Amino acid sequence: MDKLKVAVIGVGHLGKAHVRVYSELPNVELVGVVDINEERGESIAEKYSTSYFSDAGDVIDRVDAVSIVTSTSTHFEIARKFLEHKVATIVEKPFVNTVEQADELIELGTKNGVPIQVGHIERFNPAVMAIKDYVKDPKYIESERISPYSFRSSDIGVVLDMMIHDIDIILHIVPSKLDRVEAIGVNVISKTEDIANARLEFENGSVASVKASRVSASKVRVIRIFSLDSYVSLNYQKNSAMIYKKSPGIEEKMAGLKNIDITKISDPRELLLGELLTVKHVDMAGHEPLKKELESFVDCVINKSTPIVTGEHGREAIRVADIICKKIDIKKKEILSKH
Ligand code: NAD
Repeated sequence: MDKLKVAVIGVGHLGKAHVRVYSELPNVELVGVVDINEERGESIAEKYSTSYFSDAGDVIDRVDAVSIVTSTSTHFEIARKFLEHKVATIVEKPFVNTVEQADELIELGTKNGVPIQVGHIERFNPAVMAIKDYVKDPKYIESERISPYSFRSSDIGVVLDMMIHDIDIILHIVPSKLDRVEAIGVNVISKTEDIANARLEFENGSVASVKASRVSASKVRVIRIFSLDSYVSLNYQKNSAMIYKKSPGIEEKMAGLKNIDITKISDPRELLLGELLTVKHVDMAGHEPLKKELESFVDCVINKSTPIVTGEHGREAIRVADIICKKIDIKKKEILSKH
């Protein structure tokens, strides 16, 4: 079978990782890289023995598929060009800047029969995939995604830049429509919010508390998911998770505890973890989410199947991010009016 001809548009921090992964996939021919920064583009092209182009239009007739890994504000125009030319497209997250732009691209992809995938990479985190069976109906979720300031993605605020990962995961695991949103955000270094906290309430009563910051001293990426019979604590950075599940017969065991003098138990944790809950440790270190994501994209294009993260998923994440940003603006005005 012929190899899939692929190019990467934008080879900065993340784009160069797309290039490396494609160069490792046996069913891909890396046709070239595109970047408006000539020096950067040339050097990545040389490193991976491919061609450099300064304009995305120059590769449009040479490829079957592209990764768009440029600054977010350019995604829409670049993706539109490729979709018009029936080139399968994976667009990094956030998909585009507005819901209207997302709708236009989805319509174009559908009209031209071209798949669109959106780079919500956490869906391909092997730990996320491993916990699927334990989080059927979460009741409460809390997520924390914090990083030191990187000077990248300053064209968007932290909600679109970082929180969008958790928004997508939460929309993916909560089987209900979003009902209500509260949010607060603060600009620290950027013109847009650098820290944000949102509370998402769903029609089925589930609640998610979502925190993101790009002005923190350390890097943390965790999500904790509480369901009626399980609790999952997942570390995205380590590709690992702890899954705590109620043991069979827990109600009777709990009832039996009424007759026990709790003060005589030296380590209540032992009782909890040994008898009442089963504990499973998922450790998927060494499995690279980006590789899984791009392998999946390439397979979808070759097999003409639907991507795991579609344009519609990307659109929904932007719609919710947009509601959060509007709530943040309202709150900012309220706070200012009090000064
Ligand atoms: P970056 O600034 O390091 O790289 C962007 C590159 O795109 C630069 O080399 C720039 O010269 C190039 N570029 C800009 N406009 C261009 C154009 N019109 N044509 C060709 N090249 C152009 O940014 P980054 O951190 O790599 O982020 C890129 C995108 O990836 C952003 O949308 C960001 O949100 C996303 N991202 C996603 C993740 C993830 O976890 N999925 C992580 C980081 C970044």
